Amino acid sequence: MDCLEFRRRLGAEPQSRDPALLAHRRDCPACAAAWERAQAFEHELQAALDVPVPEGLTERVLLAQATGERRLQSRRRHRFGYALAASLLLALGMGGYALHRRDAGSLPALAVAHMPGEISSLDLVRPISAQAIAAGFADRGIRLRGPLPAGVTYVHDCPVGPYKTVHLVSRIDDMPVAVLYVPGKQVPQARDFQRGGWHGRIVPLQRGTLVMLTDRQGARPFDTVAQGWRLAIDGSDAARVADRPVQPSGLLAP
Ligand SMILES: [Zn+2]
Ligand SMILES: [Zn+2]
Repeated sequence: MDCLEFRRRLGAEPQSRDPALLAHRRDCPACAAAWERAQAFEHELQAALDVPVPEGLTERVLLAQATGERRLQSRRRHRFGYALAASLLLALGMGGYALHRRDAGSLPALAVAHMPGEISSLDLVRPISAQAIAAGFADRGIRLRGPLPAGVTYVHDCPVGPYKTVHLVSRIDDMPVAVLYVPGKQVPQARDFQRGGWHGRIVPLQRGTLVMLTDRQGARPFDTVAQGWRLAIDGSDAARVADRPVQPSGLLAP
């Protein structure tokens, strides 16, 4: 596939996962950037339209209109009914758009938006050295406290929105999971999310947050990946505390 064909296909089907399309995106930075812009636009469009509309609203508006005009079966007024329904839906859509703007700075939104530029990192299969991983954290002023997880194929210090993150890829049973460690960012609890074709999970650590993402189908080894990085970043004591059940007395089980 050449650039022209890629752009044509991207314009027609921005959500396409055609392997030929993805292969060109991986190999061509210019088209990868075009793809990223197209996805950002798609997300905004989708978010603007993706607003829960009260059930039967359109029907109710049309019914009220139809009842009112039973005596005057005018096509013009029927069109007015559609126009009224459409403008109501549009108004609701704009509300959704405003909500979306506020959501654009959320961790899931920032993480998903970060992925296209480094999408090919998910295809790396060769584990990188412990020194390289430690250096990636050291550049962020972080000393790892526990043993590293196996199957780490990528490390890069990446700005993600306002955050200075360590971007990693963990590979478990051939399933690549992108991991962004966000030092200093605290979230109240773990949660899963889905966004723009990505499945993700956010997990709080002691002094930061893990964001995990994958765009692949199949079992998602978020538990294993999170456990591995919790052990490496927080250390074995912290990992044990996190995994241990809390007894009724409030004391931790031995
Ligand atoms: Zn190209
Ligand atoms: Zn990155």
